[in-house]
Amino acid sequence: MTTDRRALPAVGIVLDLPAVRALLTRAPRSLVADAVRAIIADARAEGREGAALPPDGEAWVQEVERRIERRVAPSLRATLNATGVVLHTNLGRAPLAASAIDAISEVARSGSTLEYDLERGVRGSRHVHCAALLAELTGAEDALVVNNCAAALVLALQAFASGRDTLVSRGELVEIGGSFRVPDIMSSAGTTLVEVGTTNRTHVDDYRRALGPGTGAIVKVHRSNFALEGFVAEAPVRDLAPVAADAGIPLIHDFGSGLMLDLSPYGLSGEPTARDAVADGATLVLMSGDKLLGGPQAGIIVGKAGAVSRLRQHPMARALRVDKLTLAALESTLALYRDPATAVQAIPALAMLTARAERVRARAEAVMATLVGYGFRAEVVATEATVGGGAFPTARIPSAAVVLEGDAAAIEARLRGGVIPVIGRISDGRLHLDLRSVLESEDATLATLVRTALS
Ligand SMILES: *Cc1c(COP(=O)(O)O)cnc(C)c1O
Repeated sequence: MTTDRRALPAVGIVLDLPAVRALLTRAPRSLVADAVRAIIADARAEGREGAALPPDGEAWVQEVERRIERRVAPSLRATLNATGVVLHTNLGRAPLAASAIDAISEVARSGSTLEYDLERGVRGSRHVHCAALLAELTGAEDALVVNNCAAALVLALQAFASGRDTLVSRGELVEIGGSFRVPDIMSSAGTTLVEVGTTNRTHVDDYRRALGPGTGAIVKVHRSNFALEGFVAEAPVRDLAPVAADAGIPLIHDFGSGLMLDLSPYGLSGEPTARDAVADGATLVLMSGDKLLGGPQAGIIVGKAGAVSRLRQHPMARALRVDKLTLAALESTLALYRDPATAVQAIPALAMLTARAERVRARAEAVMATLVGYGFRAEVVATEATVGGGAFPTARIPSAAVVLEGDAAAIEARLRGGVIPVIGRISDGRLHLDLRSVLESEDATLATLVRTALS
C-alpha cells in the first residue's frame, strides 16, 4: 500500500485553483473551504493518498461543486403527488387553498394582530383568531387551536386526567400513523389507561362499570384508518355523553379527520362531519387541520365553553401553541366553508376528492397524449385512488393513471430525482402517475416534469 501523504494537496492549494475560486461567486468561502477539506479527508480515509491533484484540478473542481450543491439544496422541497393517495402524510398531507397561501404571506411579511387587540390598542390573545369561526362552522360553544391532533389529545388528557384514570375501549387502542399510538399518548400525558370492553364489542355498560372515583375522563377514538366488520358493537358518543356527564368527567372524542362537509353527494359516505361530532355531545372534539379539513397542520379542539377555557389556561397550551402562519392559513381555509360550493372547489383536498372520474380520465388522456407526442410510450389505465390521511379507510375512488412503459424502478428513480420530484406508484411492475392526487392546474407541470426527468 502506498501512503504518499504528500500527494494530497493542501486545502489552500485547492482553494487557489482558478476554477475553485470562481465558485466563490456562487457560494460563501466557508462552504467552499468545508467542501475542499471534506474531500481531502475522505481521500485520506479511503487510503487514496496517491490521488494527486491533476494539473488542471478538474476532477477536484467537479467534486467541490457537487458537494456544495448538495449542501445548499433545501431539505424540504416541493413534490408533485401522483401516488393516488390524496392526503399523503409523507408528502405533507393537504395542499393549501390559494387564499390560505396568500394569508400566510400577508402575515409573514410584517407585523400582525397575532396577540394584539386592534379595537382597544392593547395586548390580545392568539387564541381568539379561529375560535369564533370554528364555533360557527361546527356548532360548538368554543374552540382552541394547537399544534396537531396528537397535541390536542395530550393537552386534554393532561388537563383533565393527569394522575387519574382514563377509560378507553379495547377496540380503540389504535395506532394512527407512525408515532401516534393511543396507549403511548395516554402514558405520556400521565394518565392511567383503563381498558373497557373487548376488541370487537364494547357497550355503554362496560364504561359505566369501569367508572370509579379515580376516573378523570372517557376517551372515544374515531376508527379513522381501519374498519372493523362482523360481530362488532361500539358505544356511540351520543350514548356515552350522559354517562360522562353523570360522573362529572369530560368525554373526549378524538375525531381525527376534520371533515367539515358531507361528501356523500360525491360518493364518499359513512364518515361523520365535525358538526355531527359536536352534536353527538362530547365535551371536547379533537381533529387535525391538515386532513379532510384541507388546511395547515393543526390540532383543533372544539367543545363546551368551560372545558375549552380550562385547556386554554393550562400551561401545556403555551407549549403546544401554533404560530401566526398556521392561524392565518387555518382561518382563511375555514372561511371558505361558509359557502360549501366554494369550499369544494377552492380547497385542493376537496377538489381532488370530488373531481368527477370522467374528468380525471380526460386529464390523464391529455397528459398521456403530450408525453406520447414527445416520443414516450405511455397509456392511460383505470385505477382506484384513496383518501389517505387516516380517513375513509375503505373508500376506493375511481381514478385514472398515466402508465409509463419501461423499467419501472428506473423511471421512478428518475422522476424522484427531478427538479420538482414527481412521486408516482409502482403497481404490477409498472409506474403509475395517478391524476386523482394531482390538481388540474398542475397537469401541464406534470407533463413537463416527466418529459424533462426522462429525457
Ligand atoms: C390522524 C389522527 C390523529 C393524529 O392527528 P395529527 O394531527 O397527525 O396529530 C389522531 N387521532 C385520530 C382519530 C386521527 O385520525
